[in-house]
Amino acid sequence: MRELSYDVVAIGGGPAGMAAALAAREAGAERVLIIERDRELGGILQQCIHNGFGLRRFEEELTGPGYAHRYIEMVRNSDIDVWLDTTVLAAEPGGVITSVSPQAGLQVVRATSVVYAMGCRERTRGAIRTPGSRPAGVFTAGAAQRMVNMEGYLPGKEVVIVGSGDIGLIMARRMTFEGAKVKAVFEIMPYSNGLTRNIVQCLEDFGIPLYLGHSVTAIHGKDRVTGITVSQVNEKLEIVPDTAFDVACDCVLLSVGLIPENELGRAAGLMLDPITGGALVDQFRQTSLPGFFAAGNVLHVHDLVDWVSEEAAIAGRSAARHARGELPEGGAARQVAAGEGIRTVVPQRLSPLEPGKMSVRFYFRAARPMGASLLQLYADGELAFERKLRIVKPSEMIVADIPVRKIGAATKLEFRLAPAPGKAETEEEIGEEA
Ligand SMILES: Cc1cc2nc3c(=O)[nH]c(=O)nc-3n(C[C@H](O)[C@H](O)[C@H](O)COP(=O)(O)OP(=O)(O)OC[C@H]3O[C@@H](n4cnc5c(N)ncnc54)[C@H](O)[C@@H]3O)c2cc1C
Repeated sequence: MRELSYDVVAIGGGPAGMAAALAAREAGAERVLIIERDRELGGILQQCIHNGFGLRRFEEELTGPGYAHRYIEMVRNSDIDVWLDTTVLAAEPGGVITSVSPQAGLQVVRATSVVYAMGCRERTRGAIRTPGSRPAGVFTAGAAQRMVNMEGYLPGKEVVIVGSGDIGLIMARRMTFEGAKVKAVFEIMPYSNGLTRNIVQCLEDFGIPLYLGHSVTAIHGKDRVTGITVSQVNEKLEIVPDTAFDVACDCVLLSVGLIPENELGRAAGLMLDPITGGALVDQFRQTSLPGFFAAGNVLHVHDLVDWVSEEAAIAGRSAARHARGELPEGGAARQVAAGEGIRTVVPQRLSPLEPGKMSVRFYFRAARPMGASLLQLYADGELAFERKLRIVKPSEMIVADIPVRKIGAATKLEFRLAPAPGKAETEEEIGEEA
């Protein structure tokens, strides 16, 4: 059994793991390693062959593999070690990482800093407890995406999509391109969970109907799925009687949410945020386990990969500083809470702010669609900062830089969303402060 030591190890070689490793190396970490269980770097991007990636990071519209390629090249041109086909089995407090691969067998690495970057997995039929029989032909949208885009199989010809997450919307268009008939997308919530651009480009452009406030109440078929029954739901998400109708299909694709892949963290005693499903972190993306950082979809589900790269670079830089013993320590962490209108906020706590730091960047998800809104910070119960947002949707992440002078010495920070008075704001007004 090999035993090696590194300054920083990123677990997962998707966009988060690569950006964290590169940032750690740039910040002076001498020995950096990425461990990836797949046969190549890139993570989920390798199967996302549609465009729409990198508009912010590279100011270009790239495909998923195109975006991944840019980072893979940067990793190749660095002296970062990469272990492919290697699965991390355990990452214990103290930085002892155990992995296994067909080529090298069992390996133990000692890391001064570890960055969790394992991404997330899809919720399945079991997670939403859909009634009916258990025929073949029911897939998660991401599994179908891999089949179509990477393996060359078509999972069905008459398709319905359950849930309006981005993967489902992207797959509605992909299946149409491949000659299948996509009959409809059914979403239980009164609003879509996908990006507006995906609703327009993947459904409206192809005449695929989106039924909001509808739930699947049965899946039919013995060996192969033959159809589903759908019913309307009320505002309490209860089935409305006498609204059921059947849709014939040979394939059901589920796009009903993602779950951060945190089994390694859970086994190591990591403190998790029950709403994001990811670690509780401070502004350095340091978790409750000293020397363990988190980035990307394992921390919280991102809408755009550009934010993943940006946030992972914070984790990577912090991991390098921790490895050199330079990450500030001491002082009580301040709690950051998601108040009215906000579902999630990251980071969820603030370690002592560094001298000279002008602002702290926070990432939010709204609890519900709200149109024009005010993002408000209450510091120890007092309104300290306010920013106008043109439109607020749960599917689109809100990213805001909060000036340190507004945070002040407050020990409790709470963010809220309130309806903005008057009509929708213009771009120029974004960024206005209280
Ligand atoms: C279908 C789909 C469509 C999307 N469309 C867009 C879009 O149009 N535009 C956009 O900007 N963003 C899009 N995104 C979002 C973006 O792709 C993701 O936010 C991003 O890929 C997340 O990066 P990550 O590194 O956190 O996770 P991932 O890309 O999932 O990478 C995690 C990596 O960790 C590895 N791993 C996990 N566990 C272990 C272990 N124990 N040991 C070793 N390795 C492990 C996995 O194999 C994987 O390679 C889309 C995402 C999906 C799923």
